[in-house]
Amino acid sequence: MMIRTRFAPSPTGFMHLGNLRTALYTYLIAKKHKGTFILRIEDTDQARYVEGAVDVIYNTLKECGLNWDEGPIFQSERKDVYKEYAAQLVEKGHAYHSEGAIWQKTPTTGSTTFKDEIYGEITVENKEIEDQVLIKSDGMPTYNFANVIDDHEMNITHVARGNEYLSSTPKYNLLYEAFGWEIPTYVHLPPIMRDATHKLSKRDGDAYFDDFKEKGYLTEAIINYIALLGWSPKGENEIFTLSELEQAFEISGISKSPAIFDEAKMRAINAEHIRRLSPEQFMELAKPHIGEFDINYNVLCTALQPRTEILSDITPQVDFLEQVCDYDNDLFNNKKMKTSPETAKEALEAALTCLNNSNFDRDSIYNSFKELSEKHERKIGWYLYPLQVALTGKPAAPGGGLDICIMFGKDQSVKRIKEAIEKL
Ligand code: GLU
Repeated sequence: MMIRTRFAPSPTGFMHLGNLRTALYTYLIAKKHKGTFILRIEDTDQARYVEGAVDVIYNTLKECGLNWDEGPIFQSERKDVYKEYAAQLVEKGHAYHSEGAIWQKTPTTGSTTFKDEIYGEITVENKEIEDQVLIKSDGMPTYNFANVIDDHEMNITHVARGNEYLSSTPKYNLLYEAFGWEIPTYVHLPPIMRDATHKLSKRDGDAYFDDFKEKGYLTEAIINYIALLGWSPKGENEIFTLSELEQAFEISGISKSPAIFDEAKMRAINAEHIRRLSPEQFMELAKPHIGEFDINYNVLCTALQPRTEILSDITPQVDFLEQVCDYDNDLFNNKKMKTSPETAKEALEAALTCLNNSNFDRDSIYNSFKELSEKHERKIGWYLYPLQVALTGKPAAPGGGLDICIMFGKDQSVKRIKEAIEKL
């Protein structure tokens, strides 16, 4: 069977993570089986029209690599199609006119049973299913009607959507039966929760794809994390690119229990994706967070890459580039390195000599410090920790004193060391 799936967002102007996850799962169900992924824009609610909202959908899907094979199909352009089908139902006795609208007539006896891939077999007594509006008095179809017509006309084989539609599905099935159409495979997805009792909502401030991009998450890490919100891979590995997900994804791995959003875990996954970037890729992403300085970016980025979980971690780590951070001489106290403001002076003067005598490459500077520390039976940190403080004004920096030295180059380093000595 050729699998055909659709993502059917309403254009609200934002891409909620839950929606993006539906898009992702829908895409993966298709791609896993070399099927077709279709985009349908559910824009029949003209009162909720938002300028530019469709572009948010296109841009987010493209940015995430969720490229659709067919569509977009706009429901607002298919009014006549829905009316035509509604007329057929009226003729067959499954629908009627009332209050200017067309209503589905549901049976009062018997029961409707269907199978959902995630929630299993569900049976509803027909007498509990109320008649519902199919075409509103303004001539527009309701979601409840349009989704059935469209999924049938588009030959959708697998309908994946939020589980808030589970309870209405018996009504849709009655429509399929009234038309004599085949019912698609249903994959209703568990909600994404903020905690045990609350859905992750826009009120939480960050429920949208763009919020996470702004915070410095990588697109592929967002996709990786939301894939895991409700789906478990077979093995231990949890780090996936989109194309790896296309291979690994299985409907049977989707859970029916609500998925709890855990930003700490999302951060850890992002950190892993950052570590896997090439140095060039990392530098390109990091540079806007660093700013323009006369420094060796390679040295800085090599130190930053393993210290960065999300890109916005970078700026506070490099706040000493413009000028040394304000510090108190107490900062020279370090138990492990056995340093203090008193020892720092000697260490920094020795550093000046080392820097002046070397070719200013990492190895030769390191060797001069090593010789010195061996001669005086001190840890090399006895020299390098005060150097780091002098260059940055911080107790920790991306890279040790030596890296920062190479990053700044000789002139800037010598200048900062001299200023620190004066301050001592
Ligand atoms: N427009 C609906 C939504 O955004 C689509 C539900 C479906 O996929 O059928 O929730």
